[in-house]
Amino acid sequence: DIHIDKVKKQFGDLEILKSVEIEIKDQEFVVLLGPSGCGKSTLLRILAGLETETSGTIRIGDRVVNKLSPKDRRIAMVFQNYAVFPHMTVFENIAFGLRMRKDSEAHIQKKVKETAELMHIENRLTHFSGQLSGGQRQRVAVARALAMEPEVLLMDEPLSNLDALLRLEMRAELKTVLDASNTTTIYVTHDQVEAMSLADRIAVMNGGQIEQYDVPTEIYHNPATEFVGSFIGNPP
Ligand code: ATP
Ligand code: MG
Repeated sequence: DIHIDKVKKQFGDLEILKSVEIEIKDQEFVVLLGPSGCGKSTLLRILAGLETETSGTIRIGDRVVNKLSPKDRRIAMVFQNYAVFPHMTVFENIAFGLRMRKDSEAHIQKKVKETAELMHIENRLTHFSGQLSGGQRQRVAVARALAMEPEVLLMDEPLSNLDALLRLEMRAELKTVLDASNTTTIYVTHDQVEAMSLADRIAVMNGGQIEQYDVPTEIYHNPATEFVGSFIGNPP
């Protein structure tokens, strides 16, 4: 399980995260939902170790991960803007983290092929990533994250750069792939419909705080605050 305990973040005088507390069960798909600027990316970056919390603890199982470097956390992250390297082939993009980790060549070959198949890009392995469509690039980014076999997968608005139809297709596909992979997932979005259709549980965030953390039906039918009701589109 993941335990996020009283995590705070200040930038100068600004309190961006105000004592965030969430517990996430193994293999759960949690969506962090909230308006622009509420601190979603900041929280994800802190979990990934790309940003340092001002105070608080983060545990995965019995490991306190706060003080660990990003590569020792067994967390992988997929960004909104794909972050694939255009001048590298799809194969090398997927292999990137595995090579950094100095995995064996045999393992790299096997893992890249496996995750490329999972994300349906196995016939693109020798293409340069710069030649791919946005959707295909996002597939590469997800494959690269999954190839690392992370305990926790963080996704920061992974579909927001895609057009509406592609977003729907990719959403359904991601859900299938991730449910099958046994990976604990934290998925950030400001899209209520996306949250409702993907999440086992939703954490609704506003102004650096979690306002409600519950299953989608509860969030919808019993919003804990006025903000949650109006943001979900079901005001009390
Ligand atoms: P969006 O949906 O637009 O991506 P978000 O919920 O991901 O928004 P964050 O990126 O976490 O929001 O930002 C939360 C707040 O923290 C914003 O007001 C932002 O300006 C501020 N912030 C983020 N990073 C920094 C930084 N490095 N220095 C100062 N302020 C920052
Ligand atoms: Mg963000």
